[in-house]
Amino acid sequence: MLDNKEFTSVITGVFAKNSLSFLLSREKVELFYRLTEFMLEQNQLFNLTAITDPRKIIFLHYADCATLAARLPKGAKIVDIGCGAGFPTLPIGILRPDITVLGIDSTAKKVNYVNQAAQLLGLTNVRAEVARAEEFAQTSARESFDIATARAVSELRVLAELALPLVRVGGSFIAMKGKNAEFELSGAKRALAMLGGKFKKTEPIALCDGTETVEHPLIYIEKSTKTPTAYPRAYAQISKKPL
Ligand code: SAM
Repeated sequence: MLDNKEFTSVITGVFAKNSLSFLLSREKVELFYRLTEFMLEQNQLFNLTAITDPRKIIFLHYADCATLAARLPKGAKIVDIGCGAGFPTLPIGILRPDITVLGIDSTAKKVNYVNQAAQLLGLTNVRAEVARAEEFAQTSARESFDIATARAVSELRVLAELALPLVRVGGSFIAMKGKNAEFELSGAKRALAMLGGKFKKTEPIALCDGTETVEHPLIYIEKSTKTPTAYPRAYAQISKKPL
């Protein structure tokens, strides 16, 4: 682990290089420091992240999630589908105290970790729940969120069926995608229409730490009409026969 001074210098440097400094404060840097310590400690007990170099954690996890946090509307109520070890759930919670974020994941260990981290950091705007997205959407949580997000969960056709049923009409689904974003999008247009979604835009994001650049486009989908009650289907069907 880096010492506090070096950590502060790296995170402020990376955020500055990517025009994200306006989101940071001394207190938030301290929260990221404590989160990194806790994550690396817990990572020795069970697998949370393959990235264990704090410099890379800052760049590939925190700054990456900050690009989304910077674009979320004020006061939004968000569900992060497949939050895993809390990405983007925890960085959003730290960087945007005005936003409430619920992370859902099917793996109880990861959800417990996210709740422990939120408690340790005193993040009252973050909560995580053990749930499968397709089942969660059949509860009162259906169409109750302003925004659904997901990072590194599944291909867009599948993800749209997991995410759009949770978003209220007028809200949006923002997918953090990789290099295949355009390809996935072209295959998902039909699914979006069937689920009450409407493609709004792809925003290319190039994140750089001075030596490396990673591309992580954001795909914005509006929830234009209610999702038919037939969706989401059971996961076996969603994955075997994506819309
Ligand atoms: N979003 C995190 C990140 O960017 O580091 C985790 C990504 S991890 C590759 C995918 C996560 O999605 C896993 O933790 C998995 O348990 C969860 N997941 C996959 N399908 C899901 C579903 N239908 N409902 C809830 N969680 C799901």
